[in-house]
Amino acid sequence: MATSDMVVSACCRHCHEVDGVTVDSGVYARWHNREGLVQELFPKLDAGEREILMGDRNGWYVCGRCWDEVMGGDDDEG
Ligand SMILES: [Zn+2]
Repeated sequence: MATSDMVVSACCRHCHEVDGVTVDSGVYARWHNREGLVQELFPKLDAGEREILMGDRNGWYVCGRCWDEVMGGDDDEG
């Protein structure tokens, strides 16, 4: 069965920038069906690219540029 490349994109909920990653459509379908962990299905992607895939599936994405700010933003300053 032939597969083709596709672009998955996710919008950062913090800065609203859109990041994209190119993946194989067949592997992406397996990912969406929860047939494996992201690091098993996409071993060649780096951590930031895997975040895009997880953001796409979960509907919640924060880009690497904002991650520290969002996750470390618990301080009750001011
Ligand atoms: Zn961002």
